[in-house]
Amino acid sequence: PPPPLVEVAPSVYEIPTSYRSDMRVPARIFASPETLPGLLADHSVEQLINVTTLPGIVGAACGMPDMHEGYGFPVGGVAATALPDGVISPGGIGFDINCGVRLLVANLERKDIADRVESLVHELSRSVPSGAGRGGRWSFSGKKLDKILEGGAGALVREHEVGTETDLEHIESGGALEAADASAVSERARQRGADQLGTLGSGNHFLEVQVVDEVFDEGLAGRLGLSIGRVTVLVHSGSRGLGHQVCTDHVRLMDSVMQRYGIQVPDRQLACAPLSSPEGQQYFAAMCAAANFGFANRHLIAHIVREVFRRMFGEREGFLRLIYDVGHNTAKIEKYEGKKVCVHRKGATRAFGPGSRDVPAAYRDIGQPVFIPGSMGTSSFVCMGTEHGSEASFGSTCHGAGRQMSRAAAKKKVTGHVLRKELEARGIVIRCASNAELAEEAPAAYKDVDRVVDVVASAGIAKKVARLRPIGVVKG
Ligand code: 5GP
Ligand code: MN
Ligand code: MN
Repeated sequence: PPPPLVEVAPSVYEIPTSYRSDMRVPARIFASPETLPGLLADHSVEQLINVTTLPGIVGAACGMPDMHEGYGFPVGGVAATALPDGVISPGGIGFDINCGVRLLVANLERKDIADRVESLVHELSRSVPSGAGRGGRWSFSGKKLDKILEGGAGALVREHEVGTETDLEHIESGGALEAADASAVSERARQRGADQLGTLGSGNHFLEVQVVDEVFDEGLAGRLGLSIGRVTVLVHSGSRGLGHQVCTDHVRLMDSVMQRYGIQVPDRQLACAPLSSPEGQQYFAAMCAAANFGFANRHLIAHIVREVFRRMFGEREGFLRLIYDVGHNTAKIEKYEGKKVCVHRKGATRAFGPGSRDVPAAYRDIGQPVFIPGSMGTSSFVCMGTEHGSEASFGSTCHGAGRQMSRAAAKKKVTGHVLRKELEARGIVIRCASNAELAEEAPAAYKDVDRVVDVVASAGIAKKVARLRPIGVVKG
C-alpha cells in the first residue's frame, strides 16, 4: 500500500513508524499539494523510509521539497544520528562531498554591463575550466595538498594569497572543517583531485551571472547588499574527483564491515558504520578533508571570476564581495536539545537561524544566508535560515529545485539547439560544451523552484529574501 501521509503542520507531512516494522523514527516530508505528486512519482519516498531504519537515527528522516532519487539516500534528505554509536553513511552525504554554492555580489547594476554580458560570459567560460575530469591552472600535491585538505579555503588565503580573511568570515565553518585528516584520504583520491582545484566539473555545476529581480524582505536584502538590478554571481561546484573517490573508497569499506557491527539495512547503498568505529572515524576525517577541498575549489573559482570582473570593469566597479558560501552535501556534528548528533545533509542546505554561534558574526542577528538555485532558465532564491528550522529539520532547508526528469528522459524530450535558441531569445547567454549536455540540464528537467521555495517558506524552515534571474550561464 502507498505510505500514509499525515499533515502534521502547514506544508509538513509525516509517515508514522507504524507503516513499516523496521522504521525507527517517522519520515517527515516538506511538501504542498502541488509538489507532493512529484515526490511520489519516483522512489525517493521509499528511500527516505529506508533511511529511518538506520541505527541511532533520531527525530525524523526529513525529505525536502526538492527531493528526488539518489544513491541509497534521496537527494534532498536530512538524517541525524546520535553520538557516539549512531551510524555515519557515505550515501547520506553523497558522492560530491561538500558540493555547494557561493554567492558574490558585484559593485554593478544590470545597466552598467548592458551590452557586455556576451563577452563577460565568454571570458568566464574561457577562464574557468569545466567538464568531467578536466584539470585547471593549479596543481597541488604532497604537503601543499595536505594543507588544503586540512585548511580548506583558509590555506589558499594564508599560503597562496588567494582571497582574503574577510572572505573566510563569510564561508560556512570559516571554509575549513576542523576534523579533517589528510592522511585518511587515499592516494587514488589525491591523484584524482591534484589538478582539479579551480574547476567547475560537469553537467549540473555552473557559474551564473544574475540580476536581482525581486526583493521579498527589504531589511534582510539590504543587509546582504542586495537590491533590485544588482548583479550577482552564483558558483555551484564541489570536491570534484577527490570527493567522489573518498565516497567510493568508504562505501566499499563500510559495505564490508557492516555485518561485523551487526548492522542490517534494507538497501545495500545505505552502507554505514557506527561513527565511533575505526571505519566511521576514518570516513568522517576523510569526508571533512574532501569538504575542505570543496571549499578551496569554490574559493579558487571565485578568485578567477574576480579576476575576470576586474579585468573587464576595473578595480572598483568590478569588485565582487562574497555574501556567503554554503555546502549541501556534508555531515556535521551539531547539538540539538543538548545532545550531539551527526547531521547528514545530502542535497540539503544548513539553514541556521538568528543567534546561532555557527552563523558568522556579520549575520548572527539575522540568520544564515541560504541560496536555492532553480535552473539556467528560471529563478534562483536567496533565503535566510530560521530558528524554527532547528526543531523542524535539524536546521536544514532545500538545496535547489530538484530534478523531476532523469538525464536520459530530458535528452529525449528536449532538443539542445532549440533550447539554446529559446534561452538566448529570453536574454540568457549560455556557454555549454554540447547541445546534448544542455538538454540534460533543461529547465523542464527540474521541478518548479517557486513552488519548492514556497514550501520551505510556508513550513518556516527558510525565509524568502530575494529572487535572482539568470542573464549568463556557464554550464559545467
Ligand atoms: P545538485 O546539487 O543537486 O546537482 O543541484 C542543485 C540544484 O541546482 C538543482 O536541483 C537545480 O535546481 C539547480 N540547477 C541546476 N542547474 C542550474 C543552473 O544552470 N542554474 C541555476 N541557477 N540552477 C541550476
Ligand atoms: Mn555537485
Ligand atoms: Mn550540488
